[in-house]
Amino acid sequence: MSAADELRATLARILPPSWTALVAGDDREGLDEMIAATDPAEVSELVRMVARDGWLVPEWPCELGGRALGADETVDVRRELARWRVGTVESAIGTGWVGPAILKYASSDVAEELLPPIARNEALWCQLFSEPDAGSDLAAVRTRATRDGDVWTVTGRKIWTSRADRAGWGLAVARTDASVPKHAGLTCFLVDMRSAGVSFRPIRQMTGDAEFFEVNLGDVRIPDRYRLGEAGQGWEVVRAVLALERVAGSGAGAATPGSMVGRPIEELVSNYLPTASELEADRIARLWVESRAIAFNNRRHALHRTENLPPVANGTPYNKVMQAEHTKRLQRAFLDFGELGLLAHAPDARGAAYDVWAYLRVQPKTVAGGTSEVLRDQIAERGLGMPRGTDPSRTQSWRSFIDSSGASA
Ligand SMILES: Cc1cc2nc3c(=O)[nH]c(=O)nc-3n(C[C@H](O)[C@H](O)[C@H](O)COP(=O)(O)OP(=O)(O)OC[C@H]3O[C@@H](n4cnc5c(N)ncnc54)[C@H](O)[C@@H]3O)c2cc1C
Repeated sequence: MSAADELRATLARILPPSWTALVAGDDREGLDEMIAATDPAEVSELVRMVARDGWLVPEWPCELGGRALGADETVDVRRELARWRVGTVESAIGTGWVGPAILKYASSDVAEELLPPIARNEALWCQLFSEPDAGSDLAAVRTRATRDGDVWTVTGRKIWTSRADRAGWGLAVARTDASVPKHAGLTCFLVDMRSAGVSFRPIRQMTGDAEFFEVNLGDVRIPDRYRLGEAGQGWEVVRAVLALERVAGSGAGAATPGSMVGRPIEELVSNYLPTASELEADRIARLWVESRAIAFNNRRHALHRTENLPPVANGTPYNKVMQAEHTKRLQRAFLDFGELGLLAHAPDARGAAYDVWAYLRVQPKTVAGGTSEVLRDQIAERGLGMPRGTDPSRTQSWRSFIDSSGASA
């Protein structure tokens, strides 16, 4: 029996029959509605029962809660979880990018303490990177951390923190040394979100949901054992985390664009190709070719990673840009081919309402995890060797840069 078959049998055994029937009938809206109408605590408990056997982190070592599966089986397992809407979205930060960073940079006792709860879906994580004045220019963070003996005190304001309300832990980057250039003075910390001094407020999105938050860190005390990496190594940790976030954002976590937010390309083909005009068929074909190219690239990267081959040059930023822009084009196509479009839809038209929600929900794809403009810059400068613009903050100490620019640190 393949791993995906075993998972399917587990899911059918643990989840209610109505859940299994909606998956079997490919009823995407019905599944979303049923999950939304179920008590979140009940859904979390079901996901935890599935996660008990390591399905959420199939590639992690068994002793840390995974199943030590290879690249192909991992891809199939992730795809199956996404089809059943089990755990892939809410656990993504912990399972997809913060967990692997803990595995690489934390001491073994901290890894043994924090990774198994991620695998079991008992601890959700958030990423405390962006700030009001540090988004694309992330190394310009103003949040400060100062050390006194074995404890750090962290003070600052973070923004756009996805799932801060549900996260038990967060990974934060803070400035620990202002006497060196901005990239060199950063350190990462694992923050227990129940600590005194942590507070947050929701930010409403254009879908009407509030999935991200502004987080205040008011003199939060963090034991030194929860420093991730060395003091001053923060930028390296941040880059490793962002690279993994972009892998997930490119669909590589499931190696199929169809498992991302919104409707899959297969549905566009089956619903609209049979009756499409030549022009419409051309548009559908282009989207299909894009989706295949992305899926093949993702699979190639996944194989390189698991077989320890050198990373594909520019692979991560390139595929993240491709996936984000493709997803927006794809969800737009569902609106155009559908009956009523973005501005008008019958309130009881379940499918049309989902299309509108999905279209709005995917718009930030070209911003979250690094904007397309900034990633194109990266490809140009690092991949193609094009000249870099001058940036005095790369060579000057952060303190003197801030003093000379008149901004507040
Ligand atoms: C849905 C969503 C979820 C998010 N979740 C999180 C999270 O959980 N944790 C977290 O820390 N952050 C999160 N973010 C924040 C995200 O990482 C930032 O929004 C992103 O890095 C861009 O930063 P910014 O919003 O400050 O925009 P800015 O950096 O101010 O950019 C504004 C515009 O200027 C352009 N620009 C900026 N610099 C350059 C340049 N050098 N060259 C060319 N163009 C440039 C950008 O492309 C953009 O169009 C999330 C964002 C979104 C949309």
